[in-house]
Amino acid sequence: MHLYGTQKVNGSGHLEIGGMDATQLAAEYGTPLFVYDIQLFRERARAFQETFKQADVSYQVAYASKAFSSIAIYQVAAQEGLSLDVVSSGELYTAIQAGFPRERIHFHGNNKSDAELRMAFEEGIGCIVVDNFYEIQQLTKLAQEYDRTIPVLLRVTPGIEAHTHDYITTGQEDSKFGFDLMNGQADRAFLQMMQADRLNVLGLHCHIGSQIFETSAFRLAAEKLVGKMAEWHDKHGYTCSVLNLGGGFGIRYTEEDTPLEPSVYVKEMIEAVKIVAGDSNYPVPEIWIEPGRSLIGDAGTTLYTIGATKRVPGIRNYAAVDGGMSDNIRPALYGAKYSSVLANRAQETLSETYTIAGKCCESGDKLIEEAQLPAVTAGDILAVFCTGAYGYSMASNYNRLARPAVVFVEDARAQLVIRRESLEDLISHDLSYGKKELQE
Ligand SMILES: *Cc1c(COP(=O)(O)O)cnc(C)c1O
Repeated sequence: MHLYGTQKVNGSGHLEIGGMDATQLAAEYGTPLFVYDIQLFRERARAFQETFKQADVSYQVAYASKAFSSIAIYQVAAQEGLSLDVVSSGELYTAIQAGFPRERIHFHGNNKSDAELRMAFEEGIGCIVVDNFYEIQQLTKLAQEYDRTIPVLLRVTPGIEAHTHDYITTGQEDSKFGFDLMNGQADRAFLQMMQADRLNVLGLHCHIGSQIFETSAFRLAAEKLVGKMAEWHDKHGYTCSVLNLGGGFGIRYTEEDTPLEPSVYVKEMIEAVKIVAGDSNYPVPEIWIEPGRSLIGDAGTTLYTIGATKRVPGIRNYAAVDGGMSDNIRPALYGAKYSSVLANRAQETLSETYTIAGKCCESGDKLIEEAQLPAVTAGDILAVFCTGAYGYSMASNYNRLARPAVVFVEDARAQLVIRRESLEDLISHDLSYGKKELQE
């Protein structure tokens, strides 16, 4: 069993997170329950920033908050000096309600609405990551209307498709995001933005993939983007000050995953940037990164209560939990793998193999294909590790299941930061249909 961050098995043989007994958390807050190890999140945030400081380059580490968005995590991110990526008015609103510093908010997305861009102008956020030509038109118009200059990054697709353990380079990239770096689109976008007098082009952005375990794709992206910045400098006399290399650093979900230390990705990126900048006589730009999963993923653990079990003789044993694809869609969506432990019997011999099923009405609602556990009984608490990223944020009310509660644990204290949805919450947007007089 691999434990993360502050996790340990305590004297009662129970899983402990942040100094709190997981079985007591389950009893107090109910299950399914997301438990976040906030000390681990802080350590990850500090490690990224420390690496930049040691290399003596200017930087921003932006938490890609689609991984897990809530007022409380935005407040911790602000405390840790992180910047913040948002991709919708909903995430931006959450950030503003959290009191997140506006100048450190970056707005992403491939189809930002006028209303969303207006909100960005009105709040005076740090920058907009421009994705397409339509958005350049929208921004040009709004900048005139608001009579305000807005800082922008240009999102490009550098023709690198990074996968977990390798990458491929393609002449052009088939992606819904960003301007193609090779076919002239990025150059045209740059010129249009330069001509729009109220857009302040900070530099270039790319995000080459997710759950990446090797550094060469990041180095190559850095080379391509700095190369383009040097080319524009020579052609147009314009110096971009920011290079944003996105996120995608891999984490350990199961023993099959072998991630590098977060600092290694950053060190190699910085080295690549310095080399190309040196070769092309270009000033080393400020380097921004956007980790999501690698900041928050392994800080999260989901606690479930086991209910029904089913034996299919000669085939498999199922153990069903009180959540499933409604709080973690990644196994159904991408075949994602997870590891687990019985939180109330963390030291017992792993004698059985179970398929962990959710309670949704889909045969594909399975969280773990082959979980090694002691023989389980109803009422056991199953802890699924590494559910901090893209779990709660992708949760749904499928089958009208209520979304779970979220607690933060740190220094042997627990605090509820998202309350569990109630049955009333589930119908709170419903309206009756029928004759008006019947409704009144
Ligand atoms: C999703 C995303 C990230 C974060 O990706 P992780 O794999 O969670 O690190 C960063 N930047 C952009 C633009 C993204 O879309």
